[in-house]
Amino acid sequence: AGAASLALTLSACGQSGEGGSEEKAGDAKGGTIGIAMPTKSSERWITDGANVEKDLKAKGYKTKLVFGEDDPDQQVSQIENLITQGVKALIIAAIDNKSLNNVLQQAADAKIPVISYDRLILGSKNVDYYASFDNEKVGKLQATYLVDKLGVASGKGPFNIELFAGSNDDNNTKYFFNGAMSVLKPYIDSKKLVVKSGQTAMTQVTTLRWDGATAQKRMEDILTSSYKSGKVDAVLSPYDGISIGIIAALKSDGYGTAAKPLPVISGQDAELASVKSIIAGQQSMTVYKDLRKLAQVATDMVDATLNGKKPEINDTKSYDNGTKVVPAYLLQPVSVDKTNYQKELVDGGYYTADQLK
Ligand code: BGC
Repeated sequence: AGAASLALTLSACGQSGEGGSEEKAGDAKGGTIGIAMPTKSSERWITDGANVEKDLKAKGYKTKLVFGEDDPDQQVSQIENLITQGVKALIIAAIDNKSLNNVLQQAADAKIPVISYDRLILGSKNVDYYASFDNEKVGKLQATYLVDKLGVASGKGPFNIELFAGSNDDNNTKYFFNGAMSVLKPYIDSKKLVVKSGQTAMTQVTTLRWDGATAQKRMEDILTSSYKSGKVDAVLSPYDGISIGIIAALKSDGYGTAAKPLPVISGQDAELASVKSIIAGQQSMTVYKDLRKLAQVATDMVDATLNGKKPEINDTKSYDNGTKVVPAYLLQPVSVDKTNYQKELVDGGYYTADQLK
């Protein structure tokens, strides 16, 4: 870009041109957007990375995509590198929502707007927008499915349920768990649902970094300590990778036969292995979040911001990060089980029928 158009672009963005390196001083269009995803160990984030890159390229940007391998320090240094490399904007799905304060200050000093992707970054005023789903609704969908399948609302029970939550450093965890508990707690209070392990507080049931093996171990411990008699009828699981660990623990305890069927068990993300598990009658449901739409929302936010426009927002009150309420666009999650996966996932173009074989 020539100097004149550069000055125009920068003033249109409300940014000052001072101190920019050659690299940094490019036209926003055609500039590079930094994307920091948390890990490759879960399929969804790989899909997110690919979708965001595709959408940004279609809008005329270059991209630099990094994965933090669930290590908060690594993510911080990756973002520092992106800033040094002169990215025009950052899209970040945080590993530890409280660890990014300093690096986001560096971004702000370099006038780099930041989009908090899926997970809200806490404690920093340098978060411009939040692109996510209605996270409380995710938990409500999971719990409502369990309650409906058990039939507790129509008077059946009591049933035994065990509870799992996500990583305690992910801001979404409390939204999922509180959403679920808003549905389950009345039945736990009336003893229609019994948590034999006694572990009902979120701090007792979180799963660091959403790790399936950690959840598997906890389920094994619960089966040993609390189910010498009786059986588990339902498990609240916040995420497909955790559900897979829980199912493995249950199976090695003899669940999954006609005499001892697997409990009703929830999930989230519609990851391929879990959709197959649902079709095979093992995991009961998942919460499907259309990641194509999330990428579209986040990349629209970047494009609007870099062009001095206001991105589309549909929530200005739910997500307070401790320093400000971050303007958000929240998408709707969908409950998927074996009765509607064809319509939602296959007809909806999320997976091909072949992928689910
Ligand atoms: C996301 C979920 C995901 C979980 C584990 C959460 O922040 O919202 O979709 O299942 O992280 O990766």
